[in-house]
Amino acid sequence: MQETSWKKPPLNTPAVFMFALTHAVVLTAVPWYGITHGFGAAAWIWFAVFLSLTELAITCGYHRLFAHLTYQAKPALRLVYLLFGAMALQNSALVWSAGHRVHHVSIDDPELDPYCAKRGFWFSHIGWMLRNYPSGVPDFDTARDLQRDPLVMWQHRYYLPIALAMNLGLSFLVGWASGDIIGVMLIAGFLRLVASHHLTFLINSAAHIFGTQPYTAENTARDNPVLAVLTFGEGYHNFHHAFANDYRNGVRWWQWDPSKWLIRTLSWFGLAYKLKSVPWFRIQRALLLAQFRRAERELAAYDGREHFAQLKARLAEEYATFQAAVSSWTALRAQLLQKTRESALDRWEHSEFRARAKELERSLHLQLRRMQSLRLQLRTA
Ligand SMILES: [Zn+2]
Ligand SMILES: [Zn+2]
Repeated sequence: MQETSWKKPPLNTPAVFMFALTHAVVLTAVPWYGITHGFGAAAWIWFAVFLSLTELAITCGYHRLFAHLTYQAKPALRLVYLLFGAMALQNSALVWSAGHRVHHVSIDDPELDPYCAKRGFWFSHIGWMLRNYPSGVPDFDTARDLQRDPLVMWQHRYYLPIALAMNLGLSFLVGWASGDIIGVMLIAGFLRLVASHHLTFLINSAAHIFGTQPYTAENTARDNPVLAVLTFGEGYHNFHHAFANDYRNGVRWWQWDPSKWLIRTLSWFGLAYKLKSVPWFRIQRALLLAQFRRAERELAAYDGREHFAQLKARLAEEYATFQAAVSSWTALRAQLLQKTRESALDRWEHSEFRARAKELERSLHLQLRRMQSLRLQLRTA
């Protein structure tokens, strides 16, 4: 649906002013100063430091901690997230999380999703913040837990002075300490802010348009490794929308997700704890279900071709095997839960349960391989 078909509400003046100012400085003062004076190493080092700190405060803090509660964090860590999150200038953690929770619940709904990708790239990237759209009004009822958090509420109340102090104050301070106030403020202050804005915004726009959908095709979210590199791991957005309560976005060990690595490292020091991760079986189940849905569509498209009946029978067989594995796993989980509740699980039984779960995970993994080759045969039949 085109964004132009939507009635335009009034401009959100503070946001328009902020974006206009930061972009104007980056497009005029930064090149001008670069040509006339040049930028020293300190400016670029602080650019990298502040960009990393603010992006990680958004990904590990605002997103995976405050919005999704995928783990818990000690107050010292929450404070660091809130300070550098304010420096990222993406509103308070409360407003950010309230909007993001609605994005997950009402994904792709043009009336409710605050940055609905179906309203176009521009709208989902930045347009949604430039006007007072009804879908952009934060619903704090979705964030009652955060309203009970004194640190979150402190940041929400004093957001503007904290954001100004972190951006102008801190940039000035490190600029003064490194003997290049203007250079550091332009590069580590303004250029870093504009770069970090667009990197985060790409998740709402590009990660809902470009990439693959291995876990679910029921919404627009995509997995995109290039975006993962640009956004400290947030590019595995299809996985994230399928399993939003997992502290990882890049779930495989080799997937680029520095946010997951940082959270894990912080947990070794006790600063982060109760990390939530989805059982591997459920991840495999989602991957397989997505394969079955695709295979069904392909079958419907290739009806009547050679080997069609044979491939259809094989697909039905695979689906029956899949359902049997899912039933066994559900029964196993129920037994485990019951035993844990009764505190009647000894060590031997526990390892027995683990071994059976591993066996089921392995059977799904093998089935996933078979499905991939079956789909290849379907397409080439
Ligand atoms: Zn999304
Ligand atoms: Zn999310």
